[in-house]
Amino acid sequence: MTLGDVLSKPPIDEYKQVEGFLLNKKGKIGQQEKLTNCNIALNYYCNNCDDIRTFCSVGNISCIFESKTLISIDGILSCNCGTTVRVWFLVESRNDITLAAPEIRILKRTEKFSDNVSLIDHGYGDFTEFLEKSKRAAREGFGAGSIVYLRKVFERIITQTAEAANPPIEIKKPNGKPKPFDQILNPVKEHCDIIPSEFAEDGYKLFGELSDVVHGDYDEEEALLKFDAFYRLVTGVLEKIKTNRELMAAIGTLGWHSGGEDGE
Ligand SMILES: [Zn+2]
Repeated sequence: MTLGDVLSKPPIDEYKQVEGFLLNKKGKIGQQEKLTNCNIALNYYCNNCDDIRTFCSVGNISCIFESKTLISIDGILSCNCGTTVRVWFLVESRNDITLAAPEIRILKRTEKFSDNVSLIDHGYGDFTEFLEKSKRAAREGFGAGSIVYLRKVFERIITQTAEAANPPIEIKKPNGKPKPFDQILNPVKEHCDIIPSEFAEDGYKLFGELSDVVHGDYDEEEALLKFDAFYRLVTGVLEKIKTNRELMAAIGTLGWHSGGEDGE
């Protein structure tokens, strides 16, 4: 395994042994080195190509020593079309990083996105921006923040589906106030086939757990652990709606328009 292999995967806690890449360097604080043969490849959505593409490192990647167990790596990744994204890593080594077989892990990874590069494709109308924000928050380790964005999209799309259902599902109580969300979600689940089968049994359980996250009874780690499942639930629902022509016609376009009490 090489440094490039580790940098091309999501950060994990576990250390991985790699071929030495800073052999016999002094490793003084602030010392800069060029990393030859370090190839990084990461997937992003390229707006220019209108698809998820693999962005590869170009030129030499440079690194700076903070110590012999901690280095900062700075690179530019490019799509085939020339669209670029800037990426930084903080890499920690369990042993001396200048050895022949250091054991390393990514402590931190940050990208500078632009209008041309994002994490997700743009197929979710107005919701795309919130889904992108949720992914970025999760990537930065902000568990509760990531869930807040997802929950907003989920509540909106379920409410829109209720209004668009045939016959419509009532979203307000007789006194005109909005019904509690579970009283909307349950009939939507029953009458509209929009919950992905993976979540058919415990879609609401998952949502309930995530409500706790949003209402303060959470820990960040737990929120991050549940993020992927909730993201799959929300995008799964959006995909099901997109392929349901009748429902999609009734909803119009995916987004914050119509009905609901807020647009934020
Ligand atoms: Zn491209």
